[in-house]
Amino acid sequence: MVKPWLMDLLICPAKECGGNLSIEIFEKHQEKIGEESFEEIDEALIICQKCGRWYPVIDTIPCMLPDDLRMEGKQRIEETRFLERWKSRIPPGIIEEGIPFGLLSE
Ligand SMILES: [Zn+2]
Repeated sequence: MVKPWLMDLLICPAKECGGNLSIEIFEKHQEKIGEESFEEIDEALIICQKCGRWYPVIDTIPCMLPDDLRMEGKQRIEETRFLERWKSRIPPGIIEEGIPFGLLSE
């Protein structure tokens, strides 16, 4: 679960990076807990301003795993689906060969 303001507190988890992150929200909804209402992000793209790495928010969950865990198996499949789903709204550089991978990467 991410809320937009939380982005100010998050930094890139990549080794020796710690860069600031920006977020592009693709889908969100209002969530109500008791009297309080806040914006919940369903799907978004997080980009590190320093190393250029991208991270997806899939179904409200930010996936910010180390590269090697993202490059294989179920995680790779899920993140690849995310790139395909939002292809028209993600910068071409990331779609093609983003860090750690894009749709044209091996
Ligand atoms: Zn970074």
